[in-house]
Amino acid sequence: MIKSNKPQLCIHGHFYQPPREDPFTGEYRIEPTANPFPNWNARITDECYAPNAQAGNFGRISFNIGGTLAKWMDDEAHATYERIVDTAQQHHRRYGVSNGIAQSVHHTILPLARGRDKRCQIRWGIASYLHRFGNRPEGIWLPEMAVDYETLEAVAETGLWFVILSDEQVRGDLVHGAGPYKVRLARDRFITVFVRDRGLSNHISFNMPSAEHAHTWMNDVMRGRKPGSLTLVATDGETFGHHHRQGVNVLKEITLPTDWDVYEITTLGRYLRQHPPMAEIEVVENTAWSCGHHLGRWATGCSCTPGCNYWKGGLRRALDNLARDIDTLYAEVLRRRDLAPWALRDNYINVLLGRVDEHRFLADHHLGHLSTMAQQRILSLLEAQVYRQRMFVSCSFFFEDLERIEPRYAIANAVKAMALVSYATGDDLTRAFRRDLSVTVSPSTGRTGAQILEEILAQANFGESPLGGDMQLTRPEISTPDQVEEFSAEISAPSEVESEEESGDPEVSE
Ligand SMILES: [Zn+2]
Repeated sequence: MIKSNKPQLCIHGHFYQPPREDPFTGEYRIEPTANPFPNWNARITDECYAPNAQAGNFGRISFNIGGTLAKWMDDEAHATYERIVDTAQQHHRRYGVSNGIAQSVHHTILPLARGRDKRCQIRWGIASYLHRFGNRPEGIWLPEMAVDYETLEAVAETGLWFVILSDEQVRGDLVHGAGPYKVRLARDRFITVFVRDRGLSNHISFNMPSAEHAHTWMNDVMRGRKPGSLTLVATDGETFGHHHRQGVNVLKEITLPTDWDVYEITTLGRYLRQHPPMAEIEVVENTAWSCGHHLGRWATGCSCTPGCNYWKGGLRRALDNLARDIDTLYAEVLRRRDLAPWALRDNYINVLLGRVDEHRFLADHHLGHLSTMAQQRILSLLEAQVYRQRMFVSCSFFFEDLERIEPRYAIANAVKAMALVSYATGDDLTRAFRRDLSVTVSPSTGRTGAQILEEILAQANFGESPLGGDMQLTRPEISTPDQVEEFSAEISAPSEVESEEESGDPEVSE
């Protein structure tokens, strides 16, 4: 590959939707605010994923797609899914490197997780990417760009080469633009970091130009940048088409420069092939792109969300304690059979992806000789590990109130995990979990987490969804003009608008 003398531009899109399925049935709720679509995944597919795929944009950008969104798209919007996968595979054939990167699988804030959970999330993310795209990723997206050195060690351990961070998360001379740069790890190993241009990324996210002016605007931005140097825009993929209607065309315009333009388009993998990292920088630990308070947004509460949000610390403590209890029981059972519990859990992703069935999985791990009952117990404990991982999805802590659907989702997944553990070992973990939740209080209603837990348990007993609403996957009909107006009003309600500080905010519809 010949190096170009023009400044190089890479746009990286982080495509993600929070998980929305009922943990008890796996079904999706009807979300009336997404009308005329049954849910937000469907609506954003129509506004963003499908038209970007049709425009060929996925072939000219770098991107990552969250695990839950990729699964949903594979099942429910398969033509779009297939087009995205095809485009990425073409990029791989043409340049010998993929333009997609992995994402740790449940959008956990990795610095807040224990080492073995970091590794599990990263390994499950790599396996999911490999399964969907047919080639090994070279980089990984850290949810909310949250970083600490232990996370980078875990990434490097898996053989991945690079991550993306924002310029406020690193220390050092950024004379080489987006890099790539080297970050030193333990035992004199390194990981590569691309550094996004925060100002430019936010400009596109919050002040996107019109499609007619996009080309000229980008030339103005890139003119005068160092020949051959890389500029990286990294933002939510939904910026292009969902947050800004003109975004699909803007992205197309920007990513199709002609010989007359002052810049060229590249992807991270391609650029890394031509420009190995040289300069060294340091990472500012416990930072993220959507919270400037040492991860307070997902750990203790901070001024990123209005009102009193001490509930975040209380919820996290309850979930952490429960996770430890679940892990202790799981590890005891597995170690009794001389098995390495965490390696087994890492491998369980192959069952989740449907690459092997449960019987084959057990046989591969020398458990095929066990009684059916014993096998079922081990499988239940492994399933419990999946729900226990899902409890920590970042959105549960992102917003302002414990009463919202996102924290409720975390508690509902905890209930499912506890039920599986109870089936496998007979241990009832709900008492301790209830006690822990009783100290976390909703600022809006004064209800405690324990009361919300009781409500979810009661709903589970009556066969109702803990997430509320209608679970039928049928498209609601709009029959009267009044209803149309009502739905339109809900859609344009400002509750979902992101502030500048909230770039990277997952699109949540409640
Ligand atoms: Zn914050």
